[in-house]
Amino acid sequence: MNIINDTYRSTIHPFALGEAVVSTIQDGAHIRDAINPPFALDKSDEEIAQIAASNNLPAHGFESGYTPTVIRIGGQTILFDTGFAPLGADEPAGHLKRRLAHAGYAPKDIDIVAFTHCHPDHILGVMDGNTPTYPNARYVIGRKEFDAWSSGEGIPEQRAGTRDIFLKLIPPLADRMTFLEDGDSVVSGLTAEAAFGHSPGHMMYRLESRGKSLLIWGDVTNHFVFSLQYPDSLVGFDDDKDLAIQTRNRVLDMVATDGLMVSGFHMPFPSIGYVERTDGHFRWTPATYQARM
Ligand SMILES: [Zn+2]
Repeated sequence: MNIINDTYRSTIHPFALGEAVVSTIQDGAHIRDAINPPFALDKSDEEIAQIAASNNLPAHGFESGYTPTVIRIGGQTILFDTGFAPLGADEPAGHLKRRLAHAGYAPKDIDIVAFTHCHPDHILGVMDGNTPTYPNARYVIGRKEFDAWSSGEGIPEQRAGTRDIFLKLIPPLADRMTFLEDGDSVVSGLTAEAAFGHSPGHMMYRLESRGKSLLIWGDVTNHFVFSLQYPDSLVGFDDDKDLAIQTRNRVLDMVATDGLMVSGFHMPFPSIGYVERTDGHFRWTPATYQARM
């Protein structure tokens, strides 16, 4: 028996937050064989090696994890982003549907799928073959995000493939879709907030219940070190790099100042943590037992 594989790795992290039950569920992870690209496009190999070493990380690559969040509140079950299309057990990603079942949610239990944005790792899992993965779900998405990918306006050339995926998957669901503006309510206690830049109309979602809060920030950051300690650094994944940097700094500053708990799609599993300010930089602090006290 090989225990050093994904079979025994924790992939479901449930906790209570006020009246809500929150679970982060890892769809999977890929090992990437370089840091630049996608990260630190403006840094030399020596600088990257130094940053990696000072954080006890390898310099020759990173693990890119994908962790959607599911929240049960007020009789509604809301899934935030869908991961990759459902794939076999031996694949590195595409496990969300199976793991949702382990967490106690059948596909039919999902009432709302809330998209942060339309990059493949966030939307592919909305369909299982030719049928919607979550048969009873309605969908919510930023209006600007939907319009940008629909029209192609402001979509960089290297995202042509992403736009094809969007056009195939998302517009056919439009009759069950609600289009959100900054500040719109999704259900009582859950509000959408604009965080444009990583994609044209990227949204975050803020859960508030009995004085407790959780910010689901999607891809405001894509790496717990390279995005937080160097928020001004250029990231290949960001569609509008200047706006993404501006948004990243704004959100990191807000989260650090307010002591907000965060769910970050690409933060290390369980992908729940806080942001700490340290000499002009930010630092990701993984959550431990806060929600259990
Ligand atoms: Zn992503």
